[in-house]
Amino acid sequence: MLATASPSPLSVLHEVFGYEQFRGPQAAIVEHVCTGGDALVLMPTGGGKSLCYQVPAIVRQRAGRGIAVVVSPLIALMHDQVGALHEAGVDAAFLNSTLSGAEAADVERRLLRGEVTLLYAAPERVTTPRFLAQLDSLHERGLLSLFAIDEAHCVSQWGHDFRPEYRALTVLHERYAGVPRIALTATADALTRQDIVERLQLEQARQFVSSFDRPNISYTIVEKKDPSQQLLRFVQDEHEGEAGVVYCQSRKRVEEVAQMLAQQGIDALPYHAGLDAAMRQRHQDRFLRDEGVVMVATIAFGMGIDKPDVRFVAHLDMPKNIEGYYQETGRAGRDGLPAAAWMAYGLQDVVNQRRMIDESPAGADFKQVMRGKLDALLALAEATDCRRVRLLHYFGEVSGPCGNCDNCLNPPQVWDGTDAARKLLSTIYRVQQHSGITFGAGHIMDILRGKASDKVRQHGHDRLSTFGLGGGFSETQLRGVLRQLIAVGAVSVDAQAFNTLQLTDGSRAVLRGEQTVTLREGVAAPSGGRRRAGGPKPTAAAVAAGLTDDGQLRFAALKAWRAEVAREHNLPAYVIFHDATLAAIAAQDPRTLSDLQGISGLGAKKLQAYGEEVLRVVGAAR
Ligand code: ADP
Ligand code: ZN
Repeated sequence: MLATASPSPLSVLHEVFGYEQFRGPQAAIVEHVCTGGDALVLMPTGGGKSLCYQVPAIVRQRAGRGIAVVVSPLIALMHDQVGALHEAGVDAAFLNSTLSGAEAADVERRLLRGEVTLLYAAPERVTTPRFLAQLDSLHERGLLSLFAIDEAHCVSQWGHDFRPEYRALTVLHERYAGVPRIALTATADALTRQDIVERLQLEQARQFVSSFDRPNISYTIVEKKDPSQQLLRFVQDEHEGEAGVVYCQSRKRVEEVAQMLAQQGIDALPYHAGLDAAMRQRHQDRFLRDEGVVMVATIAFGMGIDKPDVRFVAHLDMPKNIEGYYQETGRAGRDGLPAAAWMAYGLQDVVNQRRMIDESPAGADFKQVMRGKLDALLALAEATDCRRVRLLHYFGEVSGPCGNCDNCLNPPQVWDGTDAARKLLSTIYRVQQHSGITFGAGHIMDILRGKASDKVRQHGHDRLSTFGLGGGFSETQLRGVLRQLIAVGAVSVDAQAFNTLQLTDGSRAVLRGEQTVTLREGVAAPSGGRRRAGGPKPTAAAVAAGLTDDGQLRFAALKAWRAEVAREHNLPAYVIFHDATLAAIAAQDPRTLSDLQGISGLGAKKLQAYGEEVLRVVGAAR
């Protein structure tokens, strides 16, 4: 193939993707990679990582440098990723086990001819002798232009998606030293980042660290009372008809919650590793292809899901750490439109997470790291100040109150729980002294509040000096105190012995009054204000585009048309056009093809393929 002059990255962005400008650090990253540099890109979900390697791949292919190999762990999503590139007129392909022998052979033939621009494959395939031999052949002919290693945190055991196969990817560097590599991830705590650099031998790579802020996501963490009902209210009141993900800890809980939502008329589906592969794929396809599906899932679901219009991510159980929480919540609002991250959190979450660490077979050092990470998340959950400030601080960023989280929007009343905490600890201590054993939370709180239950009397605990000492505190208040004491490690829960409460080394500081305990007052939840009387709620894209009633009609017509096209092409609707693009078209009310020029997300290929149709649909809705 003849080397030709490279097109400019910006012209590729305009022509192929129909976007006006690079976002944030994209321009610098693309420039660096186009000129052959290695890069490590840390960017939050929705930040626009894909373009960071897709644009260089196209630029370098057009300059005669051959193909880019994209390493991705997500076989189930490759079809759609490649489909999206086809829609934009880019010659992309994937190689994985879902292809028939004939299809795979065809891809390999095109690959060896250096025709493909981007080839997607999973790490276990990339490192096979057969595939490496094919890469050798390309390399010898100067037709291996780039390696993109997506979801690079999979190489690290500190990340939350550790995939041992990623470790073998060092072969790419060793075997094809001159070929640039770009590794990308949305997980960026210092430990994981260091691990990625070492494991993938990216010491020489330039690091591009974006702000991790997702300003369009509103964070809310509520106290868990009746989680199913709380979730239902959140979904019905604030996200009726919208796509969302609900994360639960266990498969059983996933099933229950999905069923509960479905019974309430919400289009909810379960997803967890215990479902057979065909059903998982079917549910994922429904989530990606249909509008307004709520996926109730374990963390097995979500990595690489690039559906842009997920309007909420809810956690019914607390994740393990802030990276996990941020990664999962980050799946909301990739399109930049308002989205919500909502979590219900309670005493049991603290107990469960602590226990999982204690009972894991990992070594002491590993457990120590895991405990530290859990503590940071607990502090976030207990926080009475801006959630975003804390989240960003965790990723090393300094920021001010965001005005778009629960604590900013509805500053919680706080009260000084230090006295209550000391009384609680004293009670645990006295009970232990008196009976030689300890008891669970309910019993301890009964004593403190002066409730002479049968059990209390039976053990003579109504004669303890702390009996009734906390009569002025409500049970909710004491639960909050206890939760925070467990969160900070001043009380431990012995899962082996009926969840009894134990004092720890950390109790002393609180007992001595050296550590204060600040708690949120159980604020009455603000009523969800988005529910409107009558008529369907306008979508986030329609609101953002400021559509008039006529505009709404055009938007609806365009969406119906898009659904048909998507079905014909067997692709999710957003791969054809994003909501924001359709809303922009509806607002523009175009009469001619040139009216369509410059609409964001409408590249040359799409304009050519769909321009006339779009005009017809808009005209018919006029
Ligand atoms: P990530 O992989 O970092 O989560 P994506 O690559 O999926 O993010 O991009 C998120 C969304 O932002 C996508 O819908 C993408 O089309 C859009 N996007 C990315 N870069 C730009 C840009 N420069 N201009 C407009 N939209 C962009
Ligand atoms: Zn805030």
